[in-house]
Amino acid sequence: TITTKDLQQLFAGIAEDIAAERDHLCELDGAIGDGDHGLAMDGGCQAAAKAVGALDVETAPTLLFNVAAKAFLNAVGASSGPLYATAFMRAAAAAKDRQTLTDDDFVRVFAAMATGIQERGKAEAGEKTMVDAWKPAADAALDAWGTGKPLPECLDMAVHAARVGCDATKDMTAAKGRASRLGDRAIGHIDPGAASAVIIIATMAKFAR
Ligand code: ADP
Ligand code: MG
Ligand code: MG
Repeated sequence: TITTKDLQQLFAGIAEDIAAERDHLCELDGAIGDGDHGLAMDGGCQAAAKAVGALDVETAPTLLFNVAAKAFLNAVGASSGPLYATAFMRAAAAAKDRQTLTDDDFVRVFAAMATGIQERGKAEAGEKTMVDAWKPAADAALDAWGTGKPLPECLDMAVHAARVGCDATKDMTAAKGRASRLGDRAIGHIDPGAASAVIIIATMAKFAR
């Protein structure tokens, strides 16, 4: 089972892993956006980790995810703010007011984050956004879980799918977000939001092991 304390550690881990890639994410965004993606994700993840870390260990996961959503949204003035805030709100709903999460709950939480991002941004796979990492990752995790694979294996498959999806954004033109104004000039560059999604998904997989 996954406890509130585990989830606090997960948010701390995400903040740490995103911080380590902050400059790289800004560089990626500098090529096809406005160069702030690393700062946005770092600020949002630090704020979420801090807010979540301050909660009592008896706090239910649903409340924890809602606190993370609010902190992330308040800290981020970029497109990634509402997208991840929605992801965490959907995670909260998927946690169903339980006191601890089962592996099944965690797979649902993971998939709900992806659906939330997709619905908030109205992007489909293939439009050169973070959805190109999140959607295949969620599909892979749900598929693997459905065939009876244990949670760590499901999330490892999700990471692999996210990496493949992220790499594929390099050859795409963007249909959503700032990069959509660039037309063919976006080709040859990885989408920064897909790159940060891979980091977060990999941290979640590390946590599940
Ligand atoms: P901004 O472009 O406002 O500076 P960020 O730099 O934080 O925001 O995030 C940019 C990333 O947001 C893009 O690389 C892309 O992955 C993602 N993104 C932008 N628009 C959408 C959307 N409609 N749906 C999903 N993801 C999106
Ligand atoms: Mg940006
Ligand atoms: Mg910006």
